[in-house]
Amino acid sequence: MYRELKTNGGMLPQSRPLEARAADNLHGYGRNGSGRNAAVQQSRGESSTDVRVESSPALAENGVSRVFVLDKRGEPLMPCHPARARKLLAKGRGRVHQMFPFTIRLIDRTREDSSVQPINVKIDPGAKTTGMALVWIEEGVNHVLHLSELTHRGAAIRKKLDQRSNYRRRRRTANLWYRKPRFNNRTRPKGWLPPSLRSRVDNTLSWVKKYQSICPVSGIVLELVRFDIQKLNNPEISGVEYQQGTLFGYEVREYLLERYNRTCIYCQGLSNDPVLEIEHFVPKNPSKGPKGTNSIKNLVIGCKTCNQTKNNYQPEQWMEVLSKSRKKIDKIRLKNLNRLLEGKRPSLAATAAVNATRNALFFELRELAPVECSTGGRTKYNRCRLNISKTHCLDAACTGKIDSVADWKQNVFLIKAMGRGSYQRTRVNKYGFPRGYLMSQKTVHGFATGDIIKACVPSGKKEGTYIGRVAVRKSGSFNIQTKQETIQGISWRYCKIISRQNGYNFAIPNSSPT
Ligand SMILES: [Zn+2]
Repeated sequence: MYRELKTNGGMLPQSRPLEARAADNLHGYGRNGSGRNAAVQQSRGESSTDVRVESSPALAENGVSRVFVLDKRGEPLMPCHPARARKLLAKGRGRVHQMFPFTIRLIDRTREDSSVQPINVKIDPGAKTTGMALVWIEEGVNHVLHLSELTHRGAAIRKKLDQRSNYRRRRRTANLWYRKPRFNNRTRPKGWLPPSLRSRVDNTLSWVKKYQSICPVSGIVLELVRFDIQKLNNPEISGVEYQQGTLFGYEVREYLLERYNRTCIYCQGLSNDPVLEIEHFVPKNPSKGPKGTNSIKNLVIGCKTCNQTKNNYQPEQWMEVLSKSRKKIDKIRLKNLNRLLEGKRPSLAATAAVNATRNALFFELRELAPVECSTGGRTKYNRCRLNISKTHCLDAACTGKIDSVADWKQNVFLIKAMGRGSYQRTRVNKYGFPRGYLMSQKTVHGFATGDIIKACVPSGKKEGTYIGRVAVRKSGSFNIQTKQETIQGISWRYCKIISRQNGYNFAIPNSSPT
């Protein structure tokens, strides 16, 4: 009998996340964490995650991002040019307040006797990366003061939670198989988001708050949805921008691409044609039969190949042609055409799930400052009209109703969400058994994992100066992750803190004025 077997026999096969333990590729496991691996010194940190911040394609050709300025009481003033900040620091009128993002504090100025203009935070929320831009608006021109890209850790959170649940599953099935399942009385509060999505919302909120504290933010512009469905059905309601060929076209295209999952509705990508076009289901100029309109109900997405093959046939006509063909692609086309004629279209359920995060973000941002909402269609329209390249942060700068964007060719401040370490103090092997233990204290000689430090080693094999993120060890011999490589075993005596850990890692801009 299954139940008669002792512990290990009753253990269920483990699912994949439990086995995929990247931190655990040292050789030779001792039993229960004893043996030689227990002697391996663990650094207190997230050894399995990559701490590097990936560089952005938008990295500057020219121009620099502004330096944030605070008054003597810590109230935000207008950001200034790095050259001016250098002068202020040299004259002794300012102090360095924080390094990331670089902020100075003037010791002889108050907000009352300075002129402060309104600044908007613009946000383009994304699944992996959120783009943010700080702009100062003067007569319709958006002057970009600061661009940043925030990389989320949604996937990492999901993986960790899967792992935890699998370790628990193993314990319950292996050691506690006789215990009855607990009464399932757990509910989820209203507005609950999965932790991976929650972290995206929280990361973005926390950065908006950070910007509010170092910069006079008066409003937020958020790309809330990909397209504006109300305006699609009713193009007249918003005046000339929404007429055919301008903004309307972009909204329609975004809507259709989203609606039909960015694949050809006829062949579903079988033709391998990457060019997707807007296609009139009932053609505009048919050889016979009724004429199709530009109404959203008559528009679908098709690849160029299918579009040209369909030509100006009525759907019923094309079906006749297709049913004579014996090619595989034509059979698929016929099947899909049939479904379309029956009125079956793909559902928008997946889009709704994506929008849940954006909506949560909107409701929480509204508590901080007035929020203006915009659409992805409008962003794309602005970006194409102003001939601006596509990156997350520039998308953010192009969000909302704007006339033009100035100074957008500049350095991008790169932020990566890292978490603040893990609660679990037991390192486990790939089967979920304990392998070694981490130290319980968070700081060693005043340093914590995630601090950005500068280490000057005066002599020896590792002589040199290193700046980077530290991973602390109890012995006081640290690892430093610099821009290029990881330096192992640097004594705490050589280290000086540049910035305390706050759950984020940064790419250090080249033109930092220090
Ligand atoms: Zn096709």
